[in-house]
Amino acid sequence: KLHNTILTLKGNIRVFCRVRPVAADKMAVETVKGGQPVMLFPQSGEVPDTALELTALNGAKSSFTFDKVFGPAATQAEVFEEVSQLVQSALDGYKVCIFAYGQTGSGKTFTTLGMPGNVGLIPRAVEQLFTSATSLEASQGWTFQMKASMLEVYNEDIRDLLGKGPPAGKKHVVSHDEKAGCTTVSHLETVDCKDPASVAALLERAARQRAVGATASNERSSRSHMVFTLSVRGTRSSDGQQLNGVLNLIDLAGSERLKASGASGERLKETQAINKSLSALGDVITSLGNKDATHIPYRNSKLTWLLQPCLGGDAKMLMVVNVAPLAEAAAESLCSLRFAAKVN
Ligand code: ADP
Ligand code: MG
Repeated sequence: KLHNTILTLKGNIRVFCRVRPVAADKMAVETVKGGQPVMLFPQSGEVPDTALELTALNGAKSSFTFDKVFGPAATQAEVFEEVSQLVQSALDGYKVCIFAYGQTGSGKTFTTLGMPGNVGLIPRAVEQLFTSATSLEASQGWTFQMKASMLEVYNEDIRDLLGKGPPAGKKHVVSHDEKAGCTTVSHLETVDCKDPASVAALLERAARQRAVGATASNERSSRSHMVFTLSVRGTRSSDGQQLNGVLNLIDLAGSERLKASGASGERLKETQAINKSLSALGDVITSLGNKDATHIPYRNSKLTWLLQPCLGGDAKMLMVVNVAPLAEAAAESLCSLRFAAKVN
C-alpha cells in the first residue's frame, strides 16, 4: 500500500484536493464496477479533511494527505473560505498564484470560474478584494488601483482574452521588469477595474473570446491554460508608501496523458505543448521546494516564464488538484494526486 504523506505548509506552497460529486446521469456507472467499489473515497468519514484514499480498478489502494481535502459535498463558499487569507495577502503586496490542476472533467473550471449562481474562486476573490480595499481606503487612507487581464496559453503561444491581440503577423512577447518584479506581455489588454461588476463583465467577455477560438478546435478550453491576473497597486496618502500585489488564478489545461503516438499534426503539437508545460510547472514548483536547488527552470515553458515573478521569492502558491470520483478516471486521478504529492 502506497502512502504519500505531505507536510503542511512547506514553504509557501500549499496543496488542496477537491473531489467533485458524481454527476446524476453517471451514477450507475460511477458507483459500482464489477461489484467492487472503484471510486475515490475519503478516508475519514463523511467530512474529509486532509486525507483521502483511492482504490484503483485492480483494487490497489493509495493514500494521500494534503493540506486540505474537499469532498464532493464541499460548497464553493467552503472552498473559498480556505483560500480567502491567501487571496487577502495580495492587498498586503504579495504575489499569489492559485492553480487548478486535473484531468478534463475533474472540476477545474467549476472551481476557478464556477457557474452563474454558484460562482467559483475568481469572482469570490475579486469581491473580497474590492470589499477589503474599500474598507482600507476608508480606515487607513490607502488608495487602491486594480487592473485585470486574462489570457490563454495555447501551444506555447499567448492569446489575449480581453483585447484584440497583436497586429497581424506579430505575437505577444513576454518580458520581465526585474526592478518592478513583474512581467509584461506586449499588446495585452489590461482593464481598470472599479468594482466587482466590472470584473464580472470582463469574465463574460473572456468566455466569449474563448468560445470564438473553440471553433477551430472544439475542446480548446481543455487544451489551453487560462490565466486571470488581478494586479493591485496601493498607495497610502499619509506617507506615500506603495505596495504592488498580484493575484493570479490559473485554470490549467487538462492533465490527462495523451498518447502522442496516435496523434498527428495539430493534435500532436497540442499534446506535446501541454505535457511540456505541465511538467515544467511541476519542475519549477519542485525546485522551489528544494532548498538545495540552485537553478529554477522557469524558461522551460511559456506559463512558468510568464508567471516567474509570482513563483518563488516570497510569493505564495496554492495548487488545487481536482479529481473526479469515477471508476474510469481512477488511473488519471492517481496521476494527478501523485503530481500534487510531488510538488508539495
Ligand atoms: P474541467 O474544467 O476540469 O474540465 P469542469 O469544471 O468543466 O471540469 O467540470 C466538469 C463537470 O462537472 C461540469 O459539468 C461541472 O459543472 C461539474 N462539476 C465539477 N465540479 C463540481 C462540483 N464541485 N459541484 C458540482 N458540479 C461540479
Ligand atoms: Mg475546464
